[in-house]
Amino acid sequence: MAPRTTDVPATAPATAPAPLVDRYGRVHTDLRISLTDRCNLRCTYCMPAEGLDWLPRGQTLDDDELLRLARIAVHRLGLRTLRLTGGEPLLRRGLPALLARLAELGAELSLTTNGIGLARRAAELKHAGLHRVNVSLDTLRPERYAALTRRDRLVDVLAGLAAAKAAGLEPVKVNAVPVRGVNEDELVDLVEFAVAGGYRMRFIESMPLDAQGAWDRTAMVTAAEVLEVLGSRWRLVPIGRHGNAPAEEWRLAGTDHVVGVIASVTRPFCGGCDRVRLTADGQLRNCLFATEESDLRALLRSGADDARIERAWRDCVAGKSPGHRIGDADFVRPDRPMSAIGG
Ligand code: SAM
Ligand code: SF4
Repeated sequence: MAPRTTDVPATAPATAPAPLVDRYGRVHTDLRISLTDRCNLRCTYCMPAEGLDWLPRGQTLDDDELLRLARIAVHRLGLRTLRLTGGEPLLRRGLPALLARLAELGAELSLTTNGIGLARRAAELKHAGLHRVNVSLDTLRPERYAALTRRDRLVDVLAGLAAAKAAGLEPVKVNAVPVRGVNEDELVDLVEFAVAGGYRMRFIESMPLDAQGAWDRTAMVTAAEVLEVLGSRWRLVPIGRHGNAPAEEWRLAGTDHVVGVIASVTRPFCGGCDRVRLTADGQLRNCLFATEESDLRALLRSGADDARIERAWRDCVAGKSPGHRIGDADFVRPDRPMSAIGG
């Protein structure tokens, strides 16, 4: 069996690591980790009704492997935020124990989830060291939710949101992908729901990352359209972006409530991108739309030392493209869909 090294010191190095920088000078501080490619929903804009060919168990990183890469990321590459996603990250076995080990690294920990099962787990996850949570919710109408996700689970998601709030996983963000002819008539309702619950609403433009390859630009509800609709209900006071965050934010005038829009397609924020992504099977991606990956799992399983893995990581980021080029005639979709990359 290949040697498995888990002997990275748990303590942070005495000196600050050199920044993880690409050739355009973008410093990377944020790591998205996919904990599994599996999911218990089948959102129509994400994957087909029958699901996908999930990764076999032996191909996904185990907790020790994942933790070792996360330590290298934080201690040797200076990454400061770890965002856990999937697939559906709550499906990962032993999640609280993994979270507790990740929390020891000292980075900010967040989770992006569809919210199924969050109601009974939010307090435990908070206790394990999770700081905040993003919950995906595209509609408040039960029948529409069942059609859109192909599962009748709206009640679970609403309970999950309430539990996350009660557990103090602040801020609780609600992510919705508006799609024309599906849920675009609920933009105001979703914001009002978020305001009433004390959540922070964010709208995400749909991207050509569905597994079916059916993405259609004309079905995407653009950021401009979202803002026009919200602007007819509230006066929107621009806040801008927090650092390199993908969301542009607006405050609803006369309130403390903030709405975010992630306009990946129509207002790309690639110039300030600080993200790098690790798939559940240990492939490092320098962009959601990258067509190449760096195989960190192979390095881990062949006994590479930390310096070798750090070098591979820096090389991967150095080769990052300046932008994603959706809309260009020669745009090529990545082989993996969003759910297998980690959105
Ligand atoms: N299953 C979890 C969830 O739904 O929150 C985490 C993974 S999911 C891939 C992460 C986010 O990506 C969700 O907010 C989802 O709505 C969004 N998403 C999925 N497919 C998308 C697409 N084609 N375009 C834009 N966002 C997408
Ligand atoms: Fe699952 Fe999230 Fe994709 Fe919906 S968007 S099918 S919840 S991975």
